[in-house]
Amino acid sequence: MESIKTLIIGSGPAGYTAAIYAARADLKPVLYTGLEPGGQLTTTTEVDNFPGYPEGIDGPKMMVELQQQAERFGTDVRIGFINKVEFSKKIGGMHKAYAEGGHEIEAHSIIISTGATAKYLGLPSEQRLRGGGVSACAVCDGFFYKGQEVAIVGGGDTAAEEATYLANICSKVTMLVRRDEMRASKAMQHRVNQASNIDLRYNSEIDEVLGENVVEGIRVKNNQTGEKQKIPITGLFIAIGHKPNTGLFKEQLDMDNAGYLITEGKSTKTNIPGVFASGDVQDKEYRQAVTAAGTGCMAALDAERYLQSLPELG
Ligand code: NAP
Repeated sequence: MESIKTLIIGSGPAGYTAAIYAARADLKPVLYTGLEPGGQLTTTTEVDNFPGYPEGIDGPKMMVELQQQAERFGTDVRIGFINKVEFSKKIGGMHKAYAEGGHEIEAHSIIISTGATAKYLGLPSEQRLRGGGVSACAVCDGFFYKGQEVAIVGGGDTAAEEATYLANICSKVTMLVRRDEMRASKAMQHRVNQASNIDLRYNSEIDEVLGENVVEGIRVKNNQTGEKQKIPITGLFIAIGHKPNTGLFKEQLDMDNAGYLITEGKSTKTNIPGVFASGDVQDKEYRQAVTAAGTGCMAALDAERYLQSLPELG
């Protein structure tokens, strides 16, 4: 069994930032990338809101550069996934992780940065046009549709927030809610109702996303009357929730009802000593690359302090 100081699981902005800090603190981190090396940013095109890139940066390129930065300080980046963990509840206890292919690792500290996955409707036309006008992040991609007509699906707080965000940028936002009421808080609903360019439609679902290579419109079905209507749009935003990638940690780490890892106060500490969580896996509120990177930094600092507190390592 390989014995290390710090294992990082996940390779989004949180995981790589944790790796940069952990490597510079001489924790000799090993990072397993998971099934989607680079995380959610590899599915976007241009990242325009990460500080320090005045011209914007291509999402996949940014993730390669973050990996290179982590490797420059000695992070051992491994393409692969961890399929089982066994955490020790004891302070100073070794945590076990099992990688694909049967490789076993024991680590004094583990940083979990496995992220979250945006939910999609699952229509073939929607899947085909992901990256061609279908997006799950209005804050990331809304700007590309400045002055244009777009649609958003969902009736929760995220959809309401993103609809009002888009309404400030786009000429018109059609908002599709599948029930006859929204799940969003009254305050968020009020903001949607106040925007003159949001066309809010209840009992409405997308039947098909139209367009060959880029989104040209949607066919919307009223699920009460069965009536269908084509709406021309250039951008479609799906805001029906995210699923945190925490299946691996069930019954071992404290999670909220939606499966997000719970951290202690302002720290990245989980309920297990030496196990820390950073990025979207513990954040359903902000979910930005820059906030994920910030918590990745925090997790590495928390891990470093934890390791220093152990008599055998400190
Ligand atoms: P959410 O609360 O789970 O809402 C998901 C929405 O998408 C619901 O309206 C749901 O409809 C709809 N939906 C789900 N599957 C669908 C499908 N296949 N087709 C069409 N519609 C579908 O998710 P969220 O809005 O991302 O929010 C997640 C959590 O973060 C919530 O606790 C929320 O309060 C919180 N949040 C808070 C803020 C804030 O306070 N500023 C901002 C963002 C998020 P049904 O209602 O019919 O199920």
